[in-house]
Amino acid sequence: GRALTKVYRMGTVEVRALRGVDVDLHEGELVVLLGPSGSGKSTLLNILGGLDAPTSGSVLFRGSELSMDSERALNLYRRNHVGFVFQFYNLIPSLTARENVALVTEIARHPMPPAEALSMVGLGDRMDHFPAQLSGGEQQRVAIARAIAKRPDLLLCDEPTGALDSKTGILVLDAILKINRSLGTTTALITHNAVIAEIANRVLYFGDGRIVETRLNAVQRRPAELQW
Ligand code: ATP
Ligand code: MG
Repeated sequence: GRALTKVYRMGTVEVRALRGVDVDLHEGELVVLLGPSGSGKSTLLNILGGLDAPTSGSVLFRGSELSMDSERALNLYRRNHVGFVFQFYNLIPSLTARENVALVTEIARHPMPPAEALSMVGLGDRMDHFPAQLSGGEQQRVAIARAIAKRPDLLLCDEPTGALDSKTGILVLDAILKINRSLGTTTALITHNAVIAEIANRVLYFGDGRIVETRLNAVQRRPAELQW
């Protein structure tokens, strides 16, 4: 993203959600976004994922600018290149875990089999369960499987553990970490978990619509060494 700004206008009220953000996500890296409520983290993630258009500035994907005016280009970008995971899982209750994932793989360009994606998040034995038959953490892992089954270039996670207790949240973060490490999926993650910030390649600290500090974790700690 280059010189990204976002102004929300509601009647006469203006909210400056982003005040000029430059950010590059390097291939395969895990970046954690931290910062106070309202500092612009979700706004940036939504813009990078093509869910929302910036007021000014541009999003570049593999060197070419994403056209924010072309609904078709945005749809293709979202469908084939970006996987999103939100706080709420948004699974379809009448479909099994496998069928929820299949909804995405049927329309993606380079999908993996739904069973493979579900196995990657440790749900190989839950594929025919309906969302109501799964715990919150399991439902979130189905949502992660759905996001990665298209083999996205970019995985964007906005407080994926926000609705979970900390023990369950760890399983979800662990699944995201495993995907980043094994598939090499470039990942941007908004979380309040301090441990994952320790093993991320970079931590971006937000304040009032800007990145106010960047921390590089030069020494990569291995997940196995983690004390969650
Ligand atoms: P949190 O940690 O609470 O999720 P955040 O860092 O993700 O916060 P954003 O959701 O990006 O913050 O919001 C940045 C600012 O933009 C806030 O002041 C917020 O109220 C405002 N904002 C976000 N979305 C909208 C919207 N759709 N309409 C109007 N204002 C919005
Ligand atoms: Mg947010």
